[in-house]
Amino acid sequence: MSYTEDQYNAFEQRMHEAHPEMFAKPYGGFAVGAGWWPIIEALCNNIQSHINFRNSKPDKAIPQVVVHQIKEKFGGLRFYYEGGDATVDGMVRMAESWASRHCEECGKPGTSRSGGWIRTLCDEHEAKRQAQMKTRFGDEDLQKSVLDGMLGEEN
Ligand SMILES: [Zn+2]
Repeated sequence: MSYTEDQYNAFEQRMHEAHPEMFAKPYGGFAVGAGWWPIIEALCNNIQSHINFRNSKPDKAIPQVVVHQIKEKFGGLRFYYEGGDATVDGMVRMAESWASRHCEECGKPGTSRSGGWIRTLCDEHEAKRQAQMKTRFGDEDLQKSVLDGMLGEEN
């Protein structure tokens, strides 16, 4: 994932300070790329606004949402939690479907990419991933062309 430790810590601190009740239990951190952080932040803001509104009316109170886990699975965002109501369920569904259409690295429009493990990426980050996989696993055609180049005119 393309973010620095400082960037992650700043994001985590901002989220914990804004939503102490939502992140009151161990949940394993934000185990997704930085492209999805704004989606998670908007989701948490909207969930808490909804809860605060409902709980300002004693006859309409709903349980506080507490996050269990936030992760990437099969190229999609997974947001596991307890509490809330059907409206919160809908917000989470919407955030997950929004994430599945936006690059996990940078947040630009993206699609599901197969090969290796499935990820949601924009064209630019998919190209970078392809390049990294060639470097990591070796590319026979590439190695052959380099070898051919080294042999030069002797062929
Ligand atoms: Zn991207």
